[in-house]
Amino acid sequence: MRFFHKLPAGPLVLAGFVFSLLSPSIAHPDHEKEAESCLTGHIKLAEIIFGKISPSDFDTEAVSRRFSLLEKRTSDQNVPIIFYSSSQQNRRPIITMANDRLSPVEALAIHDGRVIGVGSLATVRKLAGERRVFHNLHKQVILPGFVEPHLHVMLSALLKGYFLDISPLRAPGFEVATERLREELKTLNPGEWLIAYGYDPSRLNWHDLSKEDLDKEVSSTTPIIVINASGHLAYANSLAFQEVGITKDTPNPEGGEYAKDPKTGELTGVLVESGAILQFSRKATLANLGRTGRVKEGLAKILGQWLAKGLTTVFDGGLGAVTPQDLETVANLTEVSPIRIRAAVADLKPGDAEKTLGTGNMPPGGFKQKGLVVKTIKLWSDGSTQGFTAAVKQNYLSEHFPAYFEGKKKGVLVWPDSANSGESAFNTTMYDEMLKWLNRGYQLMIHANGDRASDIVLGNFEKIFKKYPKHDPKRSGIIHRIEHFTVTKTPQVQKAKDLGIAVSHTMGHVHYWGDAFKFGVLGKERAERIDPVKDGVKTGAIYSFNSDSPVTDADPLLWVGTAISRRVYKSNTVLGKAQRVGLEDALKGVTSYPAKQILWDKEVGSLEPGKFADFVIVNRDLRCFDWEQKSTDEIKILETWIGGVRRYSALGSL
Ligand SMILES: [Zn+2]
Ligand SMILES: [Zn+2]
Repeated sequence: MRFFHKLPAGPLVLAGFVFSLLSPSIAHPDHEKEAESCLTGHIKLAEIIFGKISPSDFDTEAVSRRFSLLEKRTSDQNVPIIFYSSSQQNRRPIITMANDRLSPVEALAIHDGRVIGVGSLATVRKLAGERRVFHNLHKQVILPGFVEPHLHVMLSALLKGYFLDISPLRAPGFEVATERLREELKTLNPGEWLIAYGYDPSRLNWHDLSKEDLDKEVSSTTPIIVINASGHLAYANSLAFQEVGITKDTPNPEGGEYAKDPKTGELTGVLVESGAILQFSRKATLANLGRTGRVKEGLAKILGQWLAKGLTTVFDGGLGAVTPQDLETVANLTEVSPIRIRAAVADLKPGDAEKTLGTGNMPPGGFKQKGLVVKTIKLWSDGSTQGFTAAVKQNYLSEHFPAYFEGKKKGVLVWPDSANSGESAFNTTMYDEMLKWLNRGYQLMIHANGDRASDIVLGNFEKIFKKYPKHDPKRSGIIHRIEHFTVTKTPQVQKAKDLGIAVSHTMGHVHYWGDAFKFGVLGKERAERIDPVKDGVKTGAIYSFNSDSPVTDADPLLWVGTAISRRVYKSNTVLGKAQRVGLEDALKGVTSYPAKQILWDKEVGSLEPGKFADFVIVNRDLRCFDWEQKSTDEIKILETWIGGVRRYSALGSL
């Protein structure tokens, strides 16, 4: 028999939370300068575009409304619950991931938001006492709630309605993309611009967008700006150029370029880098201020989507990068969000992170604002691989290499270092910036896609740990992170492990961009070993899988499937058989390992007594699933529980 329960509220959930208005926007006189100098792809453009939205547009009212209702319905009884299965074919239905193993058990008991017992049904029954209810899983299986170690909350929310998302998943082709753009036109008020994000030629047969495409296929009477998924490029129509006052004779702006046809000298419609894009996005933002109310609903929508994918804890990869109000908004969000949130503060260039708190410095070792704990600083060492700006050791393939990147065939490094003093405008080396934050007791989270960038990051850590042994993770107890770690050689993985540096792979690079990397960007040999999870397993490194949402939709089960099969979307081919791993090693990447990386493994990442009762219930046993032949879509997340409260049910509202 199956019992339906009324459940206790989790300890982090505050009933009846009344959101307070955020403080007024902080003036940023050097905003323009900042925007021009950062090289962070998807993040920097949102900063440019949305710098003018006021903090109240990001308030958490909609989230509070949506999720506090749910909580009331599930919190009026407080007794232990025991999960088990009566099915003879499902004797150990609870995968706990204790000790970084599957560690399956017969029964799980939860109470007051925490796990109170795991083990045999008899043992767990004793622990739960006489007043308890049973939940028979039958054929279903429980996994620890997924820990997503790197995504971007605000930018993901903005894509839920404030502007149009035409990334290849939503618009898988030039024709579909232009059709979506035409549909969106109908939602605009007179005078508003059409703003879209996510167009990606590297996944659309390298079909670039031109001014003429937009004029003819979408509109010549509404100004349009479409931002490339990489964030380094954008596309505008003729009217947009006219409104901004740019002609083919206008000189290129500082830090950007209005791409021209080399033969005719005419504008192509392609805007290169933020210096150029800024001119357009500013104008578009001012014209579209009437739409900013959509941002509130966007926050509620994105959290709902993540719950349905089994996310119970998320880590934001850089607050302060999207808008100056990021930190305050996400701190407020922690008071009403059903999903646990932690975050890094973005240090896009020297001195940036200090500005985020508005105090000119940061408290040593981290700080807490509302429910948001921050112990991490995020740095970016290079660009994006599919955008040809990740710093690699060997040249990119040339066939699709954009003419405007000529002379940078090995990508771009953001910070100057002894090896690349001429490549960056910053006057501080990454070594010095890293050391500054280590001295203040922070964890470092460093974006490095290319092998050239990773060499520098790893080399800096090595030098620092040698000179200041107190910063060695074995001494300090603080594990540091390299993000993406896409293009690598095995010795680099070994070096990361030896230094005690954890790595987090964006598995969508394999799944969605696998063919683009193989045939258009890196070539077969380098592409086959992107995101080398097997190397991680062999060396004993702490690895995890991230979505970098909105770069890809958060979907931990898909990353588990990708790590096991290395299958590429659409072509269904296998990219790099040698890097395949088994279920246990794949599941670690979305549960216990990312929990260590976000410095929260005492409470999340596995189902063990004392930890939060955060888990998902899936419709089938992952241990007998044919990962290599079947699609992960066949595994359904039926329920997501956080702090002992059922926050999502596939059956609809509770
Ligand atoms: Zn990144
Ligand atoms: Zn990111």
